[in-house]
Amino acid sequence: MFLDQVKIHIRAGDGGDGAASFRREAHVPRGGPDGGDGGRGGSIHLRVDPGQTTLRDYRQHRHFKAESGGRGSGSRKHGKAGSDLTLVVPPGTAVRDDASGELLADLVSSEQVAMVARGGRGGLGNVHFATATHRTPKHAQKGEPGAERWIRLELRLIADVGLVGLPNAGKSTLLAALTAARPKIADYPFTTLEPNLGVLDLGDEDERRPTIADVPGLIEGASLGAGLGHAFLRHVERTRILVHVVDGADRDPEWAHGVIRDELEAHDPALLEKPMIVAFNKVDRPAAAAAWPSFRDARRRDGLPCLAISAATGAGIPELRVLLAERLPDAAELGRPVEPAGVVVHRIESLADGFAVEREADGAFRVKGRRIERVAAQTDFSVDESADRFQRDLARLGVEAELRRAGIEAGDTVRIGAIELEWDREAWEAG
Ligand code: GDP
Ligand code: MG
Repeated sequence: MFLDQVKIHIRAGDGGDGAASFRREAHVPRGGPDGGDGGRGGSIHLRVDPGQTTLRDYRQHRHFKAESGGRGSGSRKHGKAGSDLTLVVPPGTAVRDDASGELLADLVSSEQVAMVARGGRGGLGNVHFATATHRTPKHAQKGEPGAERWIRLELRLIADVGLVGLPNAGKSTLLAALTAARPKIADYPFTTLEPNLGVLDLGDEDERRPTIADVPGLIEGASLGAGLGHAFLRHVERTRILVHVVDGADRDPEWAHGVIRDELEAHDPALLEKPMIVAFNKVDRPAAAAAWPSFRDARRRDGLPCLAISAATGAGIPELRVLLAERLPDAAELGRPVEPAGVVVHRIESLADGFAVEREADGAFRVKGRRIERVAAQTDFSVDESADRFQRDLARLGVEAELRRAGIEAGDTVRIGAIELEWDREAWEAG
């Protein structure tokens, strides 16, 4: 299996409940309210760790939960805040909401952080609800539930140089020759099912540290979704330079070259506009040496830089390094992502203060809106005072008027988030 797309479930911590308690002192029979606030729940963040190259760890472990906030207690003691949870991802990880497919964040640069699930707020303790006329409120807010959702992580490897070519062309061998990385080399196709990443060695004088990746699995028909190649093609989208490795000892190197170009074009014609170097490999083999002159002439006609190399013996490797060094941008530019820097799109607060009333299939009324759903979730309906207060909130936010307009009658069901209420006009008017 290739490891560049995973689905994980994240749940931020719930806010702690606020406390409803009263001061107790020897000489005061019933003191004023002293219930402290609940602590906020921990949020979940994703952080780019440049040391990571795969999403492999998320195959084993798919559920993540941040710590909930502590409950408030008497003597105005606040609950402890829940710890945030930070998950590390490799650079080039796009984060999507799994249900809608919406892009939440595109994490490209080192140490970039995105919040993907906000912890719930702590509930307010009853100290906040005392007024001149109501000195002993029993109302305290419950903690707000933490956000939860399934998200999809998609890794698009950001390498400065991408190696493309048919299986067995010699990409892994060349990567090893150009870098300190030692990828597994095998004699059969589809061995390297994860892109291999290394740091290109441009010599001691050069301060640049460009990355180079072996993009495996590029096979005929890949762009039509036939093979794994399609997934891997996403990795080459953001490279600065492509090195097209052709097996010079192939029966027909010209054909092998054309297949890959067709694949790249079918995936995205812009890929053919990227700077490209054609590396005609295995020239240590007589068949390759014989095929080289006509292959070279054809590339000259195409206007493509081309050179003969042997990844195995090292012939032509210094020349390839020079070509790459000339074509790569300076160190400052290399430090910046290829695409307009990290488009981080946060859509966490989707439904803000507004609300909408809808009719559900069973005739119940559903009130949707972030604010009102939060207020409902934070109400402890078993405490009369809290339930009354909620009804006043409904009126204040205009929800009551909207429900009446929608034709609500006594006995109808109202749903707000996970809360279900029965509309009771008597109680409503009394409250
Ligand atoms: P990849 O599938 O493109 O990653 O190809 P590999 O790097 O795994 O190489 C495929 C086979 O070709 C392996 O047996 C390598 O040893 C061999 N090979 C790679 N480069 C050369 C070369 O320059 N000369 C010769 N003779 N064999 C090579
Ligand atoms: Mg390989």
